[in-house]
Amino acid sequence: MTKVTPYHSSNPTDPDVYHWHDNCPAGSQIPARNKVSGKGYGNRPCRLCERMD
Ligand SMILES: [Zn+2]
Repeated sequence: MTKVTPYHSSNPTDPDVYHWHDNCPAGSQIPARNKVSGKGYGNRPCRLCERMD
């Protein structure tokens, strides 16, 4: 359970969520080139990250 600075995907086809756990199953599928630091505009908190809190 590693908490990190919130990040999200810059890919518009990905869900509008942000993650804050390094080992989130959904967040870890974001390729490095699409990984953007920050919550992003209008993104919701990731349910999986919430569960790991
Ligand atoms: Zn997540």
